[in-house]
Amino acid sequence: MENSDTSRYAFVTGATSGIGLAIARKLAQHGYNILYNGFGDDALIVKLQEEFEKVYKVRAHYLPGDLTKQDDIERTCQEILKINKTGVDVLVNNAGFQYVSPVQDFPVEKWNDMISVMLTAPFIFIKHLLPGMLEKGWGRIINISSVHGQVASKDKTAYVSAKHGIIGLTKTVALETAGTGVTCNALCPGWVGTELFWKQVRAKAKDQGIAEEEAKNNIVSAKQPSGETVEEDHLGEAVLFMCSQAASQMTGSCLTIDGGWLAQ
Ligand code: NAD
Repeated sequence: MENSDTSRYAFVTGATSGIGLAIARKLAQHGYNILYNGFGDDALIVKLQEEFEKVYKVRAHYLPGDLTKQDDIERTCQEILKINKTGVDVLVNNAGFQYVSPVQDFPVEKWNDMISVMLTAPFIFIKHLLPGMLEKGWGRIINISSVHGQVASKDKTAYVSAKHGIIGLTKTVALETAGTGVTCNALCPGWVGTELFWKQVRAKAKDQGIAEEEAKNNIVSAKQPSGETVEEDHLGEAVLFMCSQAASQMTGSCLTIDGGWLAQ
């Protein structure tokens, strides 16, 4: 697709795989220049760079950084403002990972890393990138939370705390920006068939001595009445909607896409 507006920028964290990559692709397809972060080897980064530039015909900048490290988060903000002095039009705080353990055995270091990636990094990115949005009178901040931002599951203390926390951050920023042209919302998916999900499937299959397909079906149907995972591409479409004029009065909201998980 031709890029009709070459001046819009979107920054997506954790865009080297899964949901973040699907969102970055969807935004690129609709003309946003893409700034992206996430782990990946050189070959993957080059492949993605070429895809954004050649297939979608937008500019793309990879911003390496480990979001467990505050210096990396701050440096990434400075790099973004060097690339474009008003920052970005769309910020998608997506990077995240899972770690499962009963609370009494949960390592404090793991807790700190998860809170940093899924709560502190989004806060710092918003803090540095919001002024440019306010200056332009338009902006979209989209925080990828989870159904685990609204209900808990056992053994996921840090994840559930971070995902509940980011909904609080979303609502507060929404109040502070109401009426400015900037909106701040959370997207709350149920199970999505990404690497984060498959790691849990493989662990369960090994633990219970069952096939991966059986473990997958058990995990999904235990929570999601539809029995099906959510597609990454559909989450990309949801982000596009949140960026549209039709969503200009949607702020401080949680958009839940979960196959019925929270309806129970
Ligand atoms: P994924 O493992 O495919 O992608 C995670 C991305 O985050 C990758 O690009 C990875 O490199 C990046 N990342 C992880 N740790 C990082 C760090 N320290 N610094 C920088 N980047 C880091 O997983 P996904 O399922 O696409 O997850 C994306 C987001 O969606 C996460 O916030 C996750 O919590 C959320 N989510 C996932 C599901 C699901 O079922 N998969 C459901 C609800 C919400």
